[in-house]
Amino acid sequence: MKRLTVSVLLLALLLSGCGAQMSPDEAQESIQVIAMDTAMLITTYGERSPAAAYACEDTIRDLEKQLSRTLEDSDVSRLNASGGEPVEVGEDLGVLLELARYYHGSTGGAFNIAIAPVVSAWGFTEDSFRVPSQAELDGLLELVQGPSYIGPRSSGGAICYSLAPGQAIDLGGIAKGYAADKIVKVLQEHDVPRANINLGGNVLAYGDRPDGAPWRVGIQDPARADEQNAFAGVLELTDSFAVTSGGYQRYFEEGGKRYHHIIDPATGYPADSGLSSVTVVAGLGEGGGFPGTMCDAYSTALFIMGEEQALDFWRDETQWEEQGCPFELVLVTEDGRVMVTEGLADRFTLEETSGYTLEVVSR
Ligand code: AMP
Ligand code: MG
Repeated sequence: MKRLTVSVLLLALLLSGCGAQMSPDEAQESIQVIAMDTAMLITTYGERSPAAAYACEDTIRDLEKQLSRTLEDSDVSRLNASGGEPVEVGEDLGVLLELARYYHGSTGGAFNIAIAPVVSAWGFTEDSFRVPSQAELDGLLELVQGPSYIGPRSSGGAICYSLAPGQAIDLGGIAKGYAADKIVKVLQEHDVPRANINLGGNVLAYGDRPDGAPWRVGIQDPARADEQNAFAGVLELTDSFAVTSGGYQRYFEEGGKRYHHIIDPATGYPADSGLSSVTVVAGLGEGGGFPGTMCDAYSTALFIMGEEQALDFWRDETQWEEQGCPFELVLVTEDGRVMVTEGLADRFTLEETSGYTLEVVSR
């Protein structure tokens, strides 16, 4: 397990020699965590920043143990290997199964955690990439009939779910967003005034920056995915989640073609919708909801839907009213446009050198 402490109590060190009083906000802790198949950076501020940062790490590792498809004794692996038998699941997986069922319905089937056997056939689960035959995909798609898991059932006080034989679930499109929701609670419990949490494409901009300005969240330019700090634009955010999905985040190439990891359940193939990334932004909400999880599920689903359907989805207020959580979008298209929904217009700056044109979308 990697745990790299980058810096601790920066100003405390500087000030300790001159007897000055340290403001609690001046302490900072920054740790890198390799988990959930990605590199994460957790930066917390305030007196309790070290304890808060490590508590965030514990939350992530605890979730990974329950939700990973590759750890053999995780709840998800036990459910996937159960051959139709009911399996006892922890509270987190129970909540995620119900949220995933909801997002499957609200996105017209684009978001579907039962896509797991197809994701594996393309080799994305074990990094053994290959292009499956159409016959193989057709066979597997019969197992992807929506999250048709059965449950929750109570058995001796335990919560149980079962899958049909051959079915499996993959929470890769939603787990980091759920982790971000849980991290908000950890930060609140530790009275952290501000934090910047980057869970590999899932950003939580908590509070504001130490200088009182909003956090600056770069939207990676998908066309320059291998360059760090090559942005299509920058968002200025406080108390918000910003979750990005894009084919550039995970892919392989074969026969001169690129195949990425976000699978359209209608075809079994990587989505080919004309979008190169989708960022969903939402506030932290009133508590009790799951805005980070929602952003994660919707960034994946809207990437599959494509520009027109994604914007219709954003315009349809019933989509967020039920969850009590409005959201805004940044879409980057393959033909060189960046589309920003009106709620973000004042908070988005196009990177001039990126070559993209900017369009603001109204309701
Ligand atoms: P994200 O980066 O959040 O867009 O999630 C992408 C990951 O979600 C993939 O690596 C798969 O594990 C999983 N996934 C792929 N296609 C879908 C889909 N249609 N619905 C739900 N999860 C998916
Ligand atoms: Mg997602």
